[in-house]
Amino acid sequence: HAKHQGKNRYAVFKAEMELRAQRRLRMEANLRRALQNEELYLHYQPQIDLRSGRIVGVEALIRWNCRDMGQLSPAEFIPVAEESGIIVDLGRWVLQSACRQAALWCKAGLLDSLEHVAVNLSACQARDPGLMDDIRAILDETQLPHGLLELEITEGVLMDNVHANVELMRRLQEAGIHLSIDDFGTGYSSMSYLKRLPIDQLKIDRSFVHDLPGEGEAIVTAIIAMAHSLHLKVVAEGVETLQQVEFLRKAGCDNVQGFFFARPMTAAQLTALLLERRDWSTRTILPA
Ligand code: C2E
Ligand code: MG
Ligand code: MG
Ligand code: MG
Repeated sequence: HAKHQGKNRYAVFKAEMELRAQRRLRMEANLRRALQNEELYLHYQPQIDLRSGRIVGVEALIRWNCRDMGQLSPAEFIPVAEESGIIVDLGRWVLQSACRQAALWCKAGLLDSLEHVAVNLSACQARDPGLMDDIRAILDETQLPHGLLELEITEGVLMDNVHANVELMRRLQEAGIHLSIDDFGTGYSSMSYLKRLPIDQLKIDRSFVHDLPGEGEAIVTAIIAMAHSLHLKVVAEGVETLQQVEFLRKAGCDNVQGFFFARPMTAAQLTALLLERRDWSTRTILPA
């Protein structure tokens, strides 16, 4: 009987694996077409300065409304894009679209309070020898001031090949581009590396913010203290509650990003938000 059950379980497991593999293949085929078909678009999520209550940045986040498979999450399709190599074209498209939009905001005078538009960089892009040339060409084309572009590289990707990445980051910094480390706290960077890296900001991973107030307190406090001792800014990701905001403010966190303030939104929605609330103040929701 047990043997029979084991066999059944294996059959179920195998069927699931096959389904998953098929879904990936289908997604990969769709993704090749998606770039040409304009199925991809960007959302933008504001980052807010906890002291002034002003928007100091936005993060561009890719969205895909697939004709065949419906709305898909980047957490699912970005890994597929990476494994298939599509990420290089896709990443270039994201950079170009975000920079074009940022240049429009800039021309409209909406960016004076904005420090940056942040774009996520994948592992493959970081390894791509053509990356610097692509970025230069895009900045040239859009005429976006270099200092308005910020690239986010995850701690995991960074530490995977720290020497090559330090080299890349130096070149980016020389070009005037800002850098922040995404999902910070989930990887294994040491203080000695951080000290040598040409970075501007750490983004506290949302898993720690999720555990505020409570179990996340010690690690969040430690990350903020470490960042500040290295003269880096800190932004907390995934801020969803007033309690989290209050803790972060008391702990001296510089910036926040999360559903509590705003969800990722279309460029048009963000334009409206910038127009409406250029002196957006969190004082209305935060006790003084
Ligand atoms: P990430 O770069 O860490 O982006 C933050 C994610 O947290 C986004 O998920 C955002 O929608 C979500 N988020 C923001 N505030 C909250 C909150 O208060 N609560 C919760 N639960 N979530 C919040 P999204 O857009 O689904 O993206 C997931 C990941 O996919 C990103 O994580 C990033 O690693 C990757 N990704 C997204 N767009 C791009 C892109 O254009 N290029 C690359 N290479 N990766 C991207
Ligand atoms: Mg910046
Ligand atoms: Mg990010
Ligand atoms: Mg993150």
